Amino acid sequence: MNSKQKRSKTASLVKDFGSQCWWCGCKLSPDKITLDHLKPQSKGGSNSLENLRLACFHCNNSRGNSLYPPQKKR
Ligand SMILES: [Zn+2]
Repeated sequence: MNSKQKRSKTASLVKDFGSQCWWCGCKLSPDKITLDHLKPQSKGGSNSLENLRLACFHCNNSRGNSLYPPQKKR
């Protein structure tokens, strides 16, 4: 994805889900939003909207290439 595609996908997801993290629900300011792949690209996940969710850096980063949600802090 180029940055223009990322911007337009981010905008659609904000419209659908609001600007909050899909995993932890925290509010995301525009400069904090990252696009997370539900199914990682490295495992064949696509760049379609159905496979993309908004996530904070922490959740996105802690998932890495996992197919599962980020570990909850206990
Ligand atoms: Zn989060």
